[in-house]
Amino acid sequence: MTESIDTFAALQLPPFLLSALTDVGYETPSPIQAACIPHFLAGHDLIGEAQTGTGKTAAFALPLLARLDLAVKMPQALVLTPTRELAIQVAEAFQKYAHHMPGFHVLPLYGGQSMVIQLRALSRGAHVIVGTPGRIMDHLERKSLVLDKLQTLVLDEADEMLRMGFIDDVEWILEHTPAEHQTALFSATMPEPIRRIAQRYQKNPQQVKIRSATTTVAAIHQRYWQVRGADKLDALTRMLEVEQDFDAALIFVRTKTATVDLADKLGARGYEAAALNGDMTQGLREQVVERLKSGSLDIVVATDVAARGLDVPRISHVVNYDIPYDTEAYVHRIGRTGRAGRAGNAILFVAPRELRMLKAIEHATRQKIEPMTLPTKSDVADRRVAQFKQQVLDVIKAEKLDFYFDVVRQLEDESEIKPREIAAALAFLAQRERPLQPEGAGWQAEAPAPAPHEERPRREERPVREFGEERQRAAPREERPAFHEDKASRANRDEILSRRRAFSEGNLAKFRIDVGRNQGVTPKDIVGAIANEGNIEGKYIGQIHLFDDYSTVELPSDIPAETLQTLKRTRIRQSPLNIRAVTPGEAEEKSDFKPRPKWGADRPSDERRPGPAKWSGGKTERDGSRPPKAPFKPGDKPKRPYAGEKKFAPKPAAGKSKKY
Ligand code: ADP
Ligand code: MG
Repeated sequence: MTESIDTFAALQLPPFLLSALTDVGYETPSPIQAACIPHFLAGHDLIGEAQTGTGKTAAFALPLLARLDLAVKMPQALVLTPTRELAIQVAEAFQKYAHHMPGFHVLPLYGGQSMVIQLRALSRGAHVIVGTPGRIMDHLERKSLVLDKLQTLVLDEADEMLRMGFIDDVEWILEHTPAEHQTALFSATMPEPIRRIAQRYQKNPQQVKIRSATTTVAAIHQRYWQVRGADKLDALTRMLEVEQDFDAALIFVRTKTATVDLADKLGARGYEAAALNGDMTQGLREQVVERLKSGSLDIVVATDVAARGLDVPRISHVVNYDIPYDTEAYVHRIGRTGRAGRAGNAILFVAPRELRMLKAIEHATRQKIEPMTLPTKSDVADRRVAQFKQQVLDVIKAEKLDFYFDVVRQLEDESEIKPREIAAALAFLAQRERPLQPEGAGWQAEAPAPAPHEERPRREERPVREFGEERQRAAPREERPAFHEDKASRANRDEILSRRRAFSEGNLAKFRIDVGRNQGVTPKDIVGAIANEGNIEGKYIGQIHLFDDYSTVELPSDIPAETLQTLKRTRIRQSPLNIRAVTPGEAEEKSDFKPRPKWGADRPSDERRPGPAKWSGGKTERDGSRPPKAPFKPGDKPKRPYAGEKKFAPKPAAGKSKKY
């Protein structure tokens, strides 16, 4: 059904959007886009079910923009997203696609941002609002957000909103929007509560589901690398260098622009690489394929469309540099290798948010895709040394060396140097162009591997530097340690160390973990996870503060390094804790002591006193992003409900607007 739609033009999108799409380099609509856009343009209600990373944003943003009346400077569309990051991301996408729509305004509204700023922006007028449920409720209650002109309401990542306990808020919003509007719901899965919402608030919704057909891909060795720490280009070149049976590679990216960019960058790093995309003439494309066949090219960077049906037996590797939109595309892509009875290799780069797609691919192909680690600096050095040795052996075997033999003998006699020394100097000269020990930036080791199938993006990746190894290798006399700790990180570490020393036994230090209210955690969860996984008795766990995207917890300052290592990998609600000591001066330290602004960002809402592991109530306070459902009674557990948990709190009464 969707196969026939190959261009955005065929979807009847207006020219100003088509030119924006050319700017961003989208070549063809993704399956969910091809299927949803026509329904959307026709004004139907819609349910779009597809994995993360399949292009759902454009599936609603493009038709929304196409139908917008710029002259009406009031919200004509409201998009609800589960997190502030997504709200910003979606708003940015709108901005990008509306590049040729002068006067267009999109406004993200989320908890944690100053209310004053948002009210001011709202009074200036916006065509599209993208927001998190809590903050949207707030604005509807205060009537700062008026939806009289609303045409379309989009629930983006509905299942995520359910998982995070926002579903009642979403329903409240649905109840408080004008009856006549189009409602589109996007979700990676369709759990029962979401289905119920669809039934209740949608009229004959068109259902679009991007299915994953099952196929077999036998002779291909499939691996994936979870993108973290190092950058993708760096990872790619490292991998290509150490792959044993490398002959030629076909690398898939999403956009035409990316084909050219990546091919250029690989070219600059010494690879024979070229782009293959739909903008190139048939003649040019054929030329590229011919050059790949004949061996004058080793790498082709292509989009799906351009590489369709490509048959070059020497392709030993297919690299999914950008993850495909669906499992079928994956199967097509990797089918470009392992041809004519040869062995094939497929490597997939997966960002944390794309792990669901990885699972879908494994499911569809009924095969496990093995995780792979990034080759280290010493892996690459080993490989280069092995190649170098082979070259030397080849030369000895194949070349006439009499003249050179004499040169070496002269050197030996004149300077009384041993042949081995001469050989070492010659090896040094020979490797200058391409050092046997790779140098330069970007040689960090990977951050510790999270368990596969982790679903949440990790915040702020901190690549760990590589110690040791290279120091043992023969190095020039003026030995410089390969690892240079920069001043800042040393100061940082010293600070942490002295801080640790300052605490005598039994004292507590503050640690930060990368899960917070947005992940739906409660202090109880945190105590439970730390007590179980870290084997720390509850009574040694001190105060816990929850923030939107992270939390702080007090633990014994002399906590062993191995325990911290374990806790780093420990997960709560799918998210790794990534625990680390809080250094003095970090934001959360301050926000604990600052007088709390009424509408401040990221305020702690729950805390826990040191004491028995049992959660004993503690202070409850309003969360900057969501109004309370009802005043808490003393002893009530302040908690955010999550999927599967029953919730009885009444909805806040409409119209009871709060002062700020
Ligand atoms: P989802 O909402 O399904 O998780 P997104 O809308 O965030 O997916 O899109 C994922 C990525 O794919 C984004 O980087 C986006 O720019 C890109 N993308 C979306 N549609 C296309 C397309 N038709 N061609 C190329 N890239 C696309
Ligand atoms: Mg999305």
